Amino acid sequence: MDTKAFKRSLQKSDTYHRKGFGHGAEVMGAMNSEYQSQLIQEIRQNDYRLERGAVTLKLAEAFGFCWGVERAVAMAYETRQHFPEERLWITNEIIHNPSVNQRLREMDVNFIDAREGIKDFSPVERGDVVILPAFGASVEEMRLLNDKGCTIVDTTCPWVSKVWNSVEKHKKKDYTSIIHGKYNHEETIATSSFAGTYLIVLNLSQAQDVCDYILNGGDKEAFLSQFKNAHSEGFDPDRDLIRLGVANQTTMLKSETEAIGKLFEKTLLRKYGPTALNERFMSFNTICDATQERQDAMFKLVEEPLDLMVVIGGYNSSNTTHLQEIAVERAIPSYHIDSAERIGPGNRVEHKPLGKALEVTEPWLPEGQITVGVTSGASTPDKVVEEVMARIIALKGA
Ligand code: SF4
Repeated sequence: MDTKAFKRSLQKSDTYHRKGFGHGAEVMGAMNSEYQSQLIQEIRQNDYRLERGAVTLKLAEAFGFCWGVERAVAMAYETRQHFPEERLWITNEIIHNPSVNQRLREMDVNFIDAREGIKDFSPVERGDVVILPAFGASVEEMRLLNDKGCTIVDTTCPWVSKVWNSVEKHKKKDYTSIIHGKYNHEETIATSSFAGTYLIVLNLSQAQDVCDYILNGGDKEAFLSQFKNAHSEGFDPDRDLIRLGVANQTTMLKSETEAIGKLFEKTLLRKYGPTALNERFMSFNTICDATQERQDAMFKLVEEPLDLMVVIGGYNSSNTTHLQEIAVERAIPSYHIDSAERIGPGNRVEHKPLGKALEVTEPWLPEGQITVGVTSGASTPDKVVEEVMARIIALKGA
């Protein structure tokens, strides 16, 4: 499909909206009271520190709601106001935060059901209004909704659209897109739908495997089975790894995306020599500013003496998981929780260690004077961070 032409024609349609509806001021008032926190504002002004009794809390200098998330949530609120009578749907969680998604449910926004990764659009009817979330939707979903005669409100973050434009450039010039991301993450599913030939690599180690294949060849069947579900249909590593463009899920670890880009560049340089490199390799910087700022702030925070870290965000939030990774790499005990309710009763926490299922640690807060680092992913409202801090303070008896 010519995805670019489809997008262009969709954007001209009267039933497609990707800007607000003029209710911005009212919506901002509601969002501020639901998601902002006075205490967090004060901590920001106090050099990101809060001392209470036996605990010092240190906040990362960049954390929480990013611009793209705030914009998407505001657009969803505005959509409800603008279409008070219509049936409203969203193709996925608006963002990876349980409390924000719950708030939308209370506003009578329906979520499309999915079983084993297959969404059921059958209840969606002509005239319904469908919101596309901050991390976008696949081009097939957009086409289906358009064909059904729905009104589409597209809250896709412009940073994500920028990645789509990159993979479309690869496709136009017949380059294979190497996408650094998680093949089953909604954003990467959407991005790959705009790509031509593509291969998704999760990390540097998988990228190294691909580069070894480029340089030395290998067992094609084993390669395809390693990257099962992570490549375009009919992908052939012998044919499709000779001209490459690199793109990424916007919320991956920035340093890893950069290392992967460099690795592919070096590999093609070794294989084809410097004069051919321009015709073999293409790369655009598509890590979003918000992801970068939150990761940089986390790197700064973990330099300080901390007894432990608390990382707050949805368990399926990629950017939150990467913040957790930074703490784990420094061997700082780190607890990833999605809400304050995970703490207690007593000195107990239910949390998700990196790459594992939920587990309970009790006791988790050490005795005596402690310093706790706190950060949150781009989908986490300040109110949730405040609630978590309040529970920690209460546990330390302050
Ligand atoms: S994390 Fe970046 S790409 Fe994702 S919504 Fe926020 S600003 Fe957009």
